[in-house]
Amino acid sequence: MSNSSTLLPAGLMAAYAVTLLLFARRQREQIGMGKRRWLMLTLLLALLNAAVYLLPDDAHMQADTKDFFISELTQPALGVILASLVFVAFTYHTLRYLQYRSAPLWTAAALIWWGAQAAITITTKDLSIGQDGWLGTIYDPVVWPGIIAIAGWAVIGALLLIAAFYAFFKAHLPEVANQALFYAIIVPLVLLGGVLGTSGSTGMREIGWVAEFFGLLGAVYSMIAYRVFDIRRTLRQTLATGILTLFTALIIFWVLLTGREMDTDGDTLYLMLGLFALAVALIYIPLRTVAQNIVNRLFGGPTEGVSQLLRQFSEEISGVVELDALADVTQRTLHQVLRARRAGLILVSNGADGTLHLEPVRRGLGDVPEHGVIFHDGPIYERLLKARAPLLQYDLDFGRTYASIKPEQRQFFEQMRMSAYAPVVVQNELIGIVCCGSKTSDDPFTNSDLELLMTVANQTGVALRNARLVADLRRREMDQAELNRRLSNTSDQLAQLDGVKTDFITIASHELRTPLAQIRGYTDIMEAMNEQGLLEQDQIESMTGNLRKAADRLENLIGAMLDVSQLNVNAMDLRFAQTSIENVMRMAIEPLTESVKNRKLMLSARGLRNLPPIQADMQRLVQAFRNVVLNAIKYTPDGGRIDISGYMKDNEIIVEVRDSGIGIDRAHQQLIFEKFFRVQDPSLHSTGTTKFMGAGPGLGLTIAKGVVEGHGGRIWVESEGQDPQRMPGSTFFIALPLTPPAEAKRVLPFEQGSKQMENFMRSQNPDAPQGEPEATLLKPPPGMRG
Ligand code: ADP
Repeated sequence: MSNSSTLLPAGLMAAYAVTLLLFARRQREQIGMGKRRWLMLTLLLALLNAAVYLLPDDAHMQADTKDFFISELTQPALGVILASLVFVAFTYHTLRYLQYRSAPLWTAAALIWWGAQAAITITTKDLSIGQDGWLGTIYDPVVWPGIIAIAGWAVIGALLLIAAFYAFFKAHLPEVANQALFYAIIVPLVLLGGVLGTSGSTGMREIGWVAEFFGLLGAVYSMIAYRVFDIRRTLRQTLATGILTLFTALIIFWVLLTGREMDTDGDTLYLMLGLFALAVALIYIPLRTVAQNIVNRLFGGPTEGVSQLLRQFSEEISGVVELDALADVTQRTLHQVLRARRAGLILVSNGADGTLHLEPVRRGLGDVPEHGVIFHDGPIYERLLKARAPLLQYDLDFGRTYASIKPEQRQFFEQMRMSAYAPVVVQNELIGIVCCGSKTSDDPFTNSDLELLMTVANQTGVALRNARLVADLRRREMDQAELNRRLSNTSDQLAQLDGVKTDFITIASHELRTPLAQIRGYTDIMEAMNEQGLLEQDQIESMTGNLRKAADRLENLIGAMLDVSQLNVNAMDLRFAQTSIENVMRMAIEPLTESVKNRKLMLSARGLRNLPPIQADMQRLVQAFRNVVLNAIKYTPDGGRIDISGYMKDNEIIVEVRDSGIGIDRAHQQLIFEKFFRVQDPSLHSTGTTKFMGAGPGLGLTIAKGVVEGHGGRIWVESEGQDPQRMPGSTFFIALPLTPPAEAKRVLPFEQGSKQMENFMRSQNPDAPQGEPEATLLKPPPGMRG
């Protein structure tokens, strides 16, 4: 054993030990790049592998003691076994680093192979493995341990190379692709180095050991360096510089040759050479520029005319006021300046509680999320606003600083499919983010690229603010239009209600005057006849009958008006007792049967008997039901039908009153429950109570609604519309809870806050409490009827 062959393994051991030590102490900045300990294990195994070559080379010494199989293990064979184990550990590390989930599976397979190979190597009687030249001699005759070792190495090599290239092609971040490419270089270095290291021939194996060491050093670098240097750019630059150097060298060579051949005598020689040098320099400078341009074009040098493009950009955006147009111009400029595949704009606005709301301008971006958030106290905001620095998607994915961001934020940025983001800040406020996808060359972003991106973002600032103001203004305008529309609807409604009030005067005078005129007329007649002594008994009877009818009508009308005025002040006094809907309905219909018969209407009722008992104010409910049925009679032509039915639905009693009458327009279906509202022209009304289209003061449904709501129920109508030809009919629904809920308002005021009326009522009834008038009404008064 020579000194030189122990010196290198010893040196390598030391180098591995130092590397291991430094690596173990180094804090890693990346997340998700696989575990560090697998690379440490690889380094440790490589260290042991180097140690093997410090053992005495005892292959021949052991040749005659064949009693123990372990005695067959020679130092070179042990080297082969250990080198294979290094490969297994390295396989696991590499696959994890390239983010393959199947790493454990492949490693397990490799371990099985390694076990088999080690076992066969140890038990075999053949000692050639690992000896000088063994790699070339194991095929004929076949030496199995050797064959298995080489086959395994080939498979591992192919697997790792394929893994690296596949990761390179499928990576959507250039930085990740670059890392994969880096492994495509160090994998062959480690594997070939390892194989050469076991070759047994001095020189070769020493080269191998060093190569393997540098390969593993590269792996360490990839783990501790946050971003691996840009391999393709480095390669291109090296090549470009090489070509230019070669070009210059050729010219110098030619000049030297030509200078040598000049045969002029001493005096003029220097002058000639000087002139020649000048001439060549004159030609060289443009030639070099041409060569430089060609090389730049071939290897992608700096983009030409960047400043011109940027100037053009700032000119263009100064005239832009639409967000979409701004997004277009920004995209186009980034395409040109950075040769980016995609680019876009994200709008940033203040959201709720410490968040910033992100909204991508989706134009031209395809399928990107609609919204996202970032937090005021988060690292992204820190970077974009506080540091005013660009942010790389790679950092978001793998940087330790961003490890804590929420998955939904991570997802938003992932779905944007961009590579770099630059903040748009105006007056110390983050109003947008300019984002840029991968470059067409798939190169990672350089610092000058990011610088350019920041410039574009800065230039976008004012234009973006203006465009957002314009967009806001538009939105406001639309809101305003919507408000106006609603306002005009409301004012229409108000006008209608106002009409209702004016109608009241017409109706009240009309309705009140008719019976009043009758009373007047009859009393006048009676007086006159009495004076002349002509009044006979039967005449008195008929006239007092008519007088009573007129008085009744007056009384009814005044009663209804009083009821409604009670509704105004929440003062309808309901007295609850148990009763049945069937009873209520029967009492409601009873006085109407005569008119039903006269008008030849078909009145039917079903399902009422099966309804459960209910807590209700019997009299009031009778009044409400009667008003509804009365309407059905009034607005259904002779010979029509009225169907009343009752059923339970969701713990409520529903009473339906369906008629085959003229129907009610949708526009009026709510208004009819308002005080004094009638669909027909008030002056056209006749005053007969049950005649078809007979008049009413427009109070019936208002009272019915007040009563039903006082019971905690609802009343509504469904109808296709009013059509006196087709008679589509209307259906009134009354929903009543079995027991009125304690919080149910007894009556809904028509005009809430009619304070004067309220005060008036209070002055009439000093016992009423001052606070909430409804509250006491909810309690059934003492002496409740039952
Ligand atoms: P009125 O005393 O005028 O009948 P209501 O408050 O009872 O007042 O009804 C208001 C308006 O609703 C009526 O004038 C009528 O135009 C319409 N209406 C009520 N019930 C019906 C019905 N069953 N079919 C058609 N229209 C109806």
